Amino acid sequence: MIDLKGRTAVVFGLANKRSIAWAIVQSLADAGARIAVCYQNERLRPEAEDLAKELPDAAIYQCDVQNEEEIDAVFARLKDRYGKLHTLVHSIAFAPPEALNNEFLDTSREAFRVAQEVSVYSLIALSRAAAPLMTEGGSILTLTYYGAEKVVPRYNVMGVAKAALEATVRYLASDLGPKKIRVNAISAGPIKTLAARGIGGLSDMLRLHAERSPLKRNVERSEVGGAALFLASDLAAGITGEVLYVDCGYNIMGF
Ligand code: NDP
Repeated sequence: MIDLKGRTAVVFGLANKRSIAWAIVQSLADAGARIAVCYQNERLRPEAEDLAKELPDAAIYQCDVQNEEEIDAVFARLKDRYGKLHTLVHSIAFAPPEALNNEFLDTSREAFRVAQEVSVYSLIALSRAAAPLMTEGGSILTLTYYGAEKVVPRYNVMGVAKAALEATVRYLASDLGPKKIRVNAISAGPIKTLAARGIGGLSDMLRLHAERSPLKRNVERSEVGGAALFLASDLAAGITGEVLYVDCGYNIMGF
């Protein structure tokens, strides 16, 4: 049984109860961690507040990761409330919808920039803000997908962003290792969420994954939550800069 009592985790990317971020919050909270959750904007506030009520003593903050001042403000409030931080979960991605429907060749400069800024640069910005609060060491986690490595039709500019995200995990792990801060990514199989619905052909993707993965099914949100709990805990103390697949083994298959 993993015990995170006395530890504090901040989780970015809560849209609703289907969000991977929510599954991660649940596993960390069940293990006793204190939780702060962040949602992007006013529109998402009611849902985030309702969900946070299910957690004992959770803090809840608004933060658009494209806005440096909002990031600084959230971490200042985290410092005031908790003093230190042990886990940062980055469960955020965005690309303009047209970039996920047209041919990759037609990716606009602006869509490329936005996808990289929201889905990749934000990990650097949040890690930089979190590191000074991780005075006892820490664990930083992000979410990636197989489209970083192989062509997944219509994943397009998001695949390129995930490739950059995985490289970013390694560079951050190298910088932050001396401070006992570990940085890892979970590569999750497809899960029906708000963000995933923006990618055309999600039903086909889910069907093919279930058919072809060694476990012959799709991954459950709670399984991603479980892997996140492991990576956040001392059981993973020797693991950094890695991509951990939680995809029912899909990535090992040739076809
Ligand atoms: P969700 O839509 O539930 O979560 C994505 C979150 O990112 C939302 O809360 C979204 O807010 C937030 N976000 C987007 N832009 C910003 C911003 N500028 N500032 C702050 N937050 C922002 O989908 P998932 O849970 O599926 O996605 C979580 C992560 O998991 C993503 O990195 C995704 O790529 C990854 N992943 C998902 C898989 C899947 O099949 N679902 C598979 C593998 C990885 P808003 O709703 O307002 O845009």
